[in-house]
Amino acid sequence: MSKKRVWVAGHKGMVGSALVRQLRGRGDDVLEVDRSIVDLRNQLAVEVWLKQNKPDAILFAAAKVGGISANDSFPADFIYDNLAIETNIIHSAHQAGIDRLVFLGSSCIYPKFAPQPIKEESLLTGPLEPTNEWYAIAKIAGIKLCQAYRKQYGRRYISVMPCNLYGPNDNFDLNTSHVLPALIRKFHEARVEGTKEVVVWGTGKPLREFLHVDDLARGVLFCLDKYNEYEHINCGAGSEISIEALAKLVSSSVGYDGRIVFDITKPDGTPRKLMDSSRIRELGWTPEISLEQGIARTYAWFLSNWVARA
Ligand code: GDP
Repeated sequence: MSKKRVWVAGHKGMVGSALVRQLRGRGDDVLEVDRSIVDLRNQLAVEVWLKQNKPDAILFAAAKVGGISANDSFPADFIYDNLAIETNIIHSAHQAGIDRLVFLGSSCIYPKFAPQPIKEESLLTGPLEPTNEWYAIAKIAGIKLCQAYRKQYGRRYISVMPCNLYGPNDNFDLNTSHVLPALIRKFHEARVEGTKEVVVWGTGKPLREFLHVDDLARGVLFCLDKYNEYEHINCGAGSEISIEALAKLVSSSVGYDGRIVFDITKPDGTPRKLMDSSRIRELGWTPEISLEQGIARTYAWFLSNWVARA
């Protein structure tokens, strides 16, 4: 495989930074641009930057992201920022003559009650989960943008749908984070402060599928090299766990032995969203990091980065 110049849009985020590590590891040139220089919501700024820099490929990890509470509280930010970033990057990539792009979505694009495990064909077959429909609609638009530029101009733009992700550079802010980093922080602080009770949101019954971001990054590069189809492709761990079981797993990894209580005034979100990732597996990608290993590694990262910085 010849060496490529690849722009990682969103290089500072959890997914973007994992992609940068992976690309550098295989010897590709990585382009990055800071938000202070190019605000991706600004069409002209994106257009000028892409025409000047002309990467061979774009890995599209830039997005306004957040957990169930952030999505529910800031619907305008989630729909506007994501739609703006997507239209700007995908349209400008085409204008600049860039032929390769991998857009990253999310398993929340699928209908709330899609048959499980969820196949790629389930897209747009039913109503979405209301807590994150703003983000989901924007991500569906991103898939459709890639398909439209492929259909009209023959661009090799593809979309990869990850399940719930976690890992280094995750967001540990309790108001805006996803569940796994929130639990790491809550159990860690309870252990350190000697608190006897940790509150977990919802009933603990929902099931989620978690993939370590380094496995996803390998999957994205795998698709960049090997996948060139109109339809988006799922990239998941292949197994699911209840929030209650996850809480027990994280508490034992962190060394917390107090009580776990459930706050049922907080939303559960979608009951289940296990994806069917047989398509990418048949092509040859498979996850390598177990949930136990991944949680231990992420806790180690949290201790030496987040806690040490605080
Ligand atoms: P989702 O997969 O889009 O629903 O996103 P989240 O990762 O935010 O939430 C997953 C599930 O974990 C939901 O059922 C939440 O109610 C539950 N959960 C339990 N405790 C927490 C917490 O402290 N933070 C978050 N974000 N979710 C939590």
